[in-house]
Amino acid sequence: MRTLGLLGGMSWESTATYYQLLNRYAREALGGRHSAKMVIWSFDFAPIADLQAAGRWPEAGALLADAARKLEDAGAEAIVICANTMHLLADEVQAAVTSPVIHVADATARQLQGAGVKRPLMLATRFTMEKPFYLERLAMHGIEAIVPSERDRTRLHDIIFDELVQGRLETRSRLAVSDIAREAVAMRGVDGIILGCTEFGLLVGPADFDAPVFDTTEIHARAAMDFALGLT
Ligand code: GLU
Repeated sequence: MRTLGLLGGMSWESTATYYQLLNRYAREALGGRHSAKMVIWSFDFAPIADLQAAGRWPEAGALLADAARKLEDAGAEAIVICANTMHLLADEVQAAVTSPVIHVADATARQLQGAGVKRPLMLATRFTMEKPFYLERLAMHGIEAIVPSERDRTRLHDIIFDELVQGRLETRSRLAVSDIAREAVAMRGVDGIILGCTEFGLLVGPADFDAPVFDTTEIHARAAMDFALGLT
């Protein structure tokens, strides 16, 4: 099995999910006492979130690139950025290492294609919904994702930063996310929901939606384990 290098702590709430999923997938694939081989670099998220909010992406990119190099020095054979937002810096991370960066948008696009989804709704941070890096990457695979209204984007962003990354799971926020998606399915012809923030799976699940759900944490962890197992 290959060793994975996780850039985590963004936030640790979802890095913990990656850790569990990767170990579970390794056991499912190999059985018995098998578990995933990985090295985790876990950031303190507060200064990272401050850099994001201030638009200081080059500084954040330097931090991620440096950590990726350390993961590689520690034996990582692929880099997994455990956050959708920070794939804004995937090229900077890739330039710093020789191992491949397993890109969450590529893995998600393959799942959407396989399911025949044509017009998914992207639920994510403001950065992921509004900057081109993610939607354009999906479009390269022929997936035209749409995003919620400005008001709903603000609501989602606030739920992520004021609640989920701080370990708070509120029923009214679960209902708000579900309502935003329901409206898009009814009014905008959406045929799939992308949980494009790695913490969303902690708050909502398939039962909260009336269209197929694509949880990027699960999809990304599965893609990483496929690489670790030599399947890709
Ligand atoms: N984990 C998140 C994501 O998947 C949000 C935190 C961040 O902005 O890095 O985008």
